Amino acid sequence: MSSLDLSGCKKRKREERTFRFQSFGEKGCPIEFDGSSFIENLKRLLECGQVEGSWGSGFPTWSFQMEISRQPPIYKLLWVVEEDVNALSGRYCKHCLYVGWGENLICNKKYHFLLPFKESNAKEVSLNYGDDDDADHYHPTRPMHGIIHSNGFGHLLCINGVELGSELPGFQIMDFWDRICTGLRARKVSLIDTSLKRGMELRLLHGLAYGEPWFGSWGYKFSRGSFGITPPMYKKAIETLQGIPLLLLTNLSDTIISDHEIPMILSRYQSFSNHSLVTLGDIFHFMSQLEKRIPKDNININIDPISTSGGLPGASCRWSSKRVEMATRVIVDALKKVRYRWISRQEVRDAARAYIGDTGLLDFVLKSLGNHIVGNFLVRRCLNPVTKVLEYSLEDMSKLHPSQDLNIARPSSITRGQVMKDMACLYKFIFGQTCNPNVNNNNNNNTVLAMKRVVLDSKHFIKEYNLEIPSEAEGKVGLFCTVSWKGSSSAHPPYECFMLQENTTVDDLKFKVEATFQELYWGMKGFAAESVVNINGKGADLVLGKVHAGTELIVEGRLGPEMAGEGIYEGSMAMKSKIVECACGAIVDDGERMVTCDICEVWQHTRCVGIPDDEPVPSIFLCKICEARILLSPSLL
Ligand SMILES: [Zn+2]
Ligand SMILES: [Zn+2]
Ligand SMILES: [Zn+2]
Repeated sequence: MSSLDLSGCKKRKREERTFRFQSFGEKGCPIEFDGSSFIENLKRLLECGQVEGSWGSGFPTWSFQMEISRQPPIYKLLWVVEEDVNALSGRYCKHCLYVGWGENLICNKKYHFLLPFKESNAKEVSLNYGDDDDADHYHPTRPMHGIIHSNGFGHLLCINGVELGSELPGFQIMDFWDRICTGLRARKVSLIDTSLKRGMELRLLHGLAYGEPWFGSWGYKFSRGSFGITPPMYKKAIETLQGIPLLLLTNLSDTIISDHEIPMILSRYQSFSNHSLVTLGDIFHFMSQLEKRIPKDNININIDPISTSGGLPGASCRWSSKRVEMATRVIVDALKKVRYRWISRQEVRDAARAYIGDTGLLDFVLKSLGNHIVGNFLVRRCLNPVTKVLEYSLEDMSKLHPSQDLNIARPSSITRGQVMKDMACLYKFIFGQTCNPNVNNNNNNNTVLAMKRVVLDSKHFIKEYNLEIPSEAEGKVGLFCTVSWKGSSSAHPPYECFMLQENTTVDDLKFKVEATFQELYWGMKGFAAESVVNINGKGADLVLGKVHAGTELIVEGRLGPEMAGEGIYEGSMAMKSKIVECACGAIVDDGERMVTCDICEVWQHTRCVGIPDDEPVPSIFLCKICEARILLSPSLL
């Protein structure tokens, strides 16, 4: 474990560039992101950052000053740390191993992307250097920490939203992370979903409501569960839980005297909804949508249309509600065009004037609009503390509740806190009743608990980015190349994209590929390219003309002599030293707690062999097979 001291970085230079948090990572913000690989884009991005020298960690560090909001002005720094695998005691990445990327070649560099908490608290940001301290994952030490290896495979280690003290909500941080990964051309990114929401497991709660994890909104999909859980098992478990009839809960709660609350909750939400809620999936979906719809902050949000009575009893304004509605839409459109920036009242007025001739109507609507929900948007209004000018901006609420139609009958008659409380109560009733003797011998209940276990054991999610040939390539043609060498496994390292010019020869390509793979991978430092296998030509022959854009080529060569016998794959060490064979079906280390048999040295999950999670691993342990053998031949003792 090493640490990066950020305390000395408080004094920011005045002229330092500031980037908009909301658009950072998009095309042009701050670079075009048109490089053909992750590493190429990253190098260009780092040129825009502030060089911070190597803080305590000893690794090159850059920072980017982000403007989170203008009103009130909030800035945050994004840190990028370049970690050199040669400087590490353990060069293997356990995240790669646990997610099933043990066959990936070890990369030379690993880039950390960090958003620390408020700067005043950011005395130290510690980096986890692949030691065995699993507790560091998802530890609320920072709003965001992700790493990307130089080949574009990465891991999102933590996201901590408002609930854990960040000034930013989790979904905004996720958007930010996803924009960075997309822009830089990350290849695959994994994460472990162990997040909690008010004490409820988010993957269970979100799975019930939406049939996928919370991270599914950004394209993360189930990839691998612990304890041998497979994708079909996960899917089945989610569907079973979602499909549980609410009727069953009502019957169940009747048997428990103290639980009159459950039928009350069920009928409460049924009365809010315009369609009938039949299953557990229905009600969790509805409650979750409702909770998102009710604003978090204390500003007075108006969900009603602008009153044409002018707010004064008896008085009525000069315009029909239809015209007021039309003017409101024009203003919202004008705010949409400036991409959610804050703009002055005058600017909004000027933009809307092109469509509305009646300035009286315009001024009336501008005066009345303020913290109103219009369709899927919240129109915010506030006085710029510096210029003392009234400003407007738009907030996209559809991000908060993706499904358009909420079908809510009376949304204003319940608070967000109440919805959360009811959700937690329902959750606890369904999943937290293992010790209840009244329901323990119930078959349905056993099924629920088994399905819950499956969902909770499904933690690894992966997003695969769609990598096409970058479009900005005047006069160039994109090819995909990889390498192979004597003794290499049939699985090649992933193809890299190369943009070739018309006069590129086979030799040029060969050396380009050699240099690229040498730069990327630790085990390929001494790699010498010999020939391009699947091309009809060599030496000074031109590549283009022989192959078309998008062709996949393999360059064959030799590994450097110093790499003979070295473990060059992320999983080399683990595969050699840790044989896993567990009753649950697991045959590789999935990061769950394990125990090794002192005779045959095979590893098994502590949970699967019956050691409770809150008990320490025994110092001596025999697996079932070895134990049986000993019992059969007592002479061995
Ligand atoms: Zn990794
Ligand atoms: Zn197991
Ligand atoms: Zn054994």
